[in-house]
Parts: sequence; C-alpha cells; structure tokens
Amino acid sequence: MKVAKRFRWEGAHRLPWHEGRCRDLHGHSYEMFVEVEGEPDEQGMLIDFKHLKRALAPIVDAWDHATVVAENDTKLLGIMQESGWRHVVIPYDTTAENICVFFADHLVGEHLDLLKERRIHTVRVRVAETETCYAETERRVEG
Ligand SMILES: [Zn+2]
Repeated sequence: MKVAKRFRWEGAHRLPWHEGRCRDLHGHSYEMFVEVEGEPDEQGMLIDFKHLKRALAPIVDAWDHATVVAENDTKLLGIMQESGWRHVVIPYDTTAENICVFFADHLVGEHLDLLKERRIHTVRVRVAETETCYAETERRVEG
C-alpha cells in the first residue's frame, strides 16, 4: 500500500553554473509529494497523514518565501547574509533532484522510528518546480 502527502511552498533559487535562465535568481511554486509504502495495520492504516505533516511541515515552513542557497554559492550566500533576507542553506546545488534528496534524507534520517513503527519499507519524494517537470528519489527504510 502507498500513501502520499502533498506539500507546497514558494521559493527562490539559482544554479550558478547553468548556461540558461536558471543561472539567474528566480522563483518556483514548489510542489512535493512524499509517498510512503508498506503494510497497513490491523485497522487499515499505513500512517496517520498528520504524522507525515508533523515530520516535514516545519522545514517546508522555513523554506516558504525563502531563497534556497547552495553552500558553495558564496556570491549569493554573501548577499543573503548581508541583507538579512530570508534564506536556507543546503550542502549541494539547488536542483529539484537535490531538493528531493534533502527531504528524503531528512525523513529517513530524523524520523526513522516513525517509519519503522508504521512498517514502512520505502519512501519516495517527488519535487516539481513547474507543472510539467519533476524529479523523484527513493529510499529503502533499513532495519
Ligand atoms: Zn529553477
């Protein structure tokens, strides 16, 4: 059985090495589906949606109306720190693929007990920057 919860936020980013428009600071209405797969309990529930929300909403809230900055983008990081504008820093480039990785790692890294307790064996995170494209990553829940 699979269940998924959708999250949405508005955010800015850039890819400094990109040869097209993604090089410049721009924004997206991000949409993320967090899907978990496993065996439902005796009552027919895999996971309470509110527990998924509790696990991820604080991060989504911190990212909303913020600029996501790659740690090595020192130019943008400097501007953000100097201005005091709302931003979050991640340790890699701010592609949709890496944002999937960030949220998947957070869920499996920080909420492993919840996943195990609910007998969830696989987590998938899908992040869309636009209506027509998305990236997705998958994690096996070990143990
Ligand atoms: Zn973009």
